[in-house]
Amino acid sequence: MKKDIPALYGSLVFNDKVMRNKLPKDVYKALKKTIENGTHLELEVANSVAVAMKEWAVENGATHFTHWFQPMTGFTAEKHDSFISPTSNGEVIMDFSGKELVKGEPDASSFPSGGLRATFEARGYTAWDPTSPAFIKDGTLYIPTAFCSYGGEALDKKTPLLRSMEALSNEAVKILHILGNTAVTHVSTTIGPEQEYFLVDKDLYKQRRDLVLCGRTLMGASAPRGQEMEDHYFGALKPRVAAYMHDLDEELWKLGIPAKTKHNEVAPSQHELAPIFDTANVAVDHNQLTMEIMKKVADKHGLACLLHEKPFEGINGSGKHNNWSISTNTGENLLDPGKTPDQNIQFLVFLMAVIKAVDEYADLMRVSAASAGNDHRLGGNEAPPAIVSIFLGDELTAVLKSIEEDTYFDEHQSVQLETGAHVLPHFMKDNTDRNRTSPFAFTGNKFEFRMLGSSASVATPNIILNTAVAEALSQFAKELEGTAPEDMEHAVHELIKRAIKKHKKVIFNGNGYTEEWVEEAKKRGLYNLESTPDCLPQFISDKNVELFTKHHIFTKEEIFSRYEILLENYVKTIGIEAKTMKEMLTKDFLPAVSSYAASVSDNALAMKALAPSVPTASAESLVSSLGDAYEKISSALSTLDEEIQEIDKKGSMQESADYCHKTVLATMDELRAAADEAEAKIPDEELPYPTYDALLFSV
Ligand code: ADP
Ligand code: MG
Repeated sequence: MKKDIPALYGSLVFNDKVMRNKLPKDVYKALKKTIENGTHLELEVANSVAVAMKEWAVENGATHFTHWFQPMTGFTAEKHDSFISPTSNGEVIMDFSGKELVKGEPDASSFPSGGLRATFEARGYTAWDPTSPAFIKDGTLYIPTAFCSYGGEALDKKTPLLRSMEALSNEAVKILHILGNTAVTHVSTTIGPEQEYFLVDKDLYKQRRDLVLCGRTLMGASAPRGQEMEDHYFGALKPRVAAYMHDLDEELWKLGIPAKTKHNEVAPSQHELAPIFDTANVAVDHNQLTMEIMKKVADKHGLACLLHEKPFEGINGSGKHNNWSISTNTGENLLDPGKTPDQNIQFLVFLMAVIKAVDEYADLMRVSAASAGNDHRLGGNEAPPAIVSIFLGDELTAVLKSIEEDTYFDEHQSVQLETGAHVLPHFMKDNTDRNRTSPFAFTGNKFEFRMLGSSASVATPNIILNTAVAEALSQFAKELEGTAPEDMEHAVHELIKRAIKKHKKVIFNGNGYTEEWVEEAKKRGLYNLESTPDCLPQFISDKNVELFTKHHIFTKEEIFSRYEILLENYVKTIGIEAKTMKEMLTKDFLPAVSSYAASVSDNALAMKALAPSVPTASAESLVSSLGDAYEKISSALSTLDEEIQEIDKKGSMQESADYCHKTVLATMDELRAAADEAEAKIPDEELPYPTYDALLFSV
């Protein structure tokens, strides 16, 4: 059956078209102004919008509404209220007011608050974010909202993201005006997040406690075939996967999510979905929804969608590439090199601001990608190292070098500056070379941050990037302020010269997967914060607290609370993994080892009784090695058990996290090695859960 995709697209979204049809003209205009310029919205306008929204929602089968928000759990939260309102004659009408649209009051006490809860009331507020469109899902009208405490502290990821977008816009507009581009009044950050994921058969998935409880396998011997044949990446889609992706696209399109690209990824059973980029705020909401819909659609297809960063050892894990750029309300992409010199001035200032931002706040960029899951990926020769550096490509690197060294840049070679030539070089957009090993790569007209884990909210890296770039721009503005227009080109040249000297250490165009780079980065004085507990203290360093408070992104209290939450999340994750491993080994695996050893031994005895001349040495050696494994695992299990008890007894969350990282994970590694070795000796049908072979080649 032929489908009308343009009609389907956004059919469940209260989008511009619906608003224009449903809202009185003046209300529509006022709302548009709020959406585009972030101006305050009057209650009368909200009342009018609420009526239209409800009407539209009810027409489309909704009975309920919910404020939809993104607490610090990393997931979304919702509480549904019906539209019904009783009338005096015992009937009900469907009702929804501006007040209900604008503000909600969920109990905040059960969401992570990292200590903010102790000092403030449990009450929390959700506030409508009109810049992200409302939508209908499962019979409920979803209203994107920001979530904060009674005292106004942000308890979510949207509030600081919106603050950071505003900070960047303010600073960008300021410097654009200094550069003479006075038409611009607002800039938006744009994001296109590429999402990687695994699909496995649901029945097999359900048989593994580790996948169900932790999202990753805690053990499992490698399959004889992994990704070495390099046949999966961009390979033909299997029918079941194709059907899933098709369904997924449609569900996303209905919600106005512009799913664009889909393909198989490097590891068996691994895939990727990329949407067309959107404003940061909307793209973040859409990515949260995408992850949720991915799981839901998988369930319908008898599949489980794994969003964990490292579901399987020995093959690639999953990331989320954050493509990021800045565009003006006049339709210009500020990271597009363009072709004319005056555009180049502007481009070079913004490019340099990003380089400076990433160099000065590389530690925060690392923090933005930190999680227990992503620790298994970063630096594992499948994802960028934990060292943050920038890939610019040869051409832009040469351009900056020519400015630094006062040499004339031409496309092929650098020669001495010719007198009378423009001080700033002409160059074309560089879209030739690529570098998959770089954590932060310039890709023609945007940067791609590749460290982020697949399950993470894209909000965090963008909060940091926006703020750090806002800071760099504000410093540049100070330097350029008061320059006469005819001197601007020279002033920019001098500014970039100073900045590139200082920040070129963060630029690295080579292979980020090598040991040499780790050495070189150390010499350059770059951070190499290997694990989550290693990097999180950077979040609360003086330099970073100053950055966030200066730009009103976080208060000091908010930063410290978030640091606590991140640590707590790490500690809890490792705790759950350790307990799950203990349970799987104790209840499932060890009984299988002993019962198989016993049956081998019984069979050998029976054989000996029937045919005494048949040698039984291999059976004996198998039984004895299984016995050794049993002993080894049992003894390491009692160590693990003691360590699990220890986790909560440390003096601080940071100490607990360090302990989990250095001690608990090490014991789990030891257990895993022993279990995997034993598993390889046991027939599949004697094992209590499906093997890697079955899981990875199940679909
Ligand atoms: P790749 O080859 O790296 O996958 P693509 O051209 O497919 O590159 O783009 C990847 C993502 O980058 C897509 O989601 C795309 O929409 C997004 N993207 C493109 N331009 C921009 C931009 N100006 N700002 C943010 N994201 C962008
Ligand atoms: Mg990409």
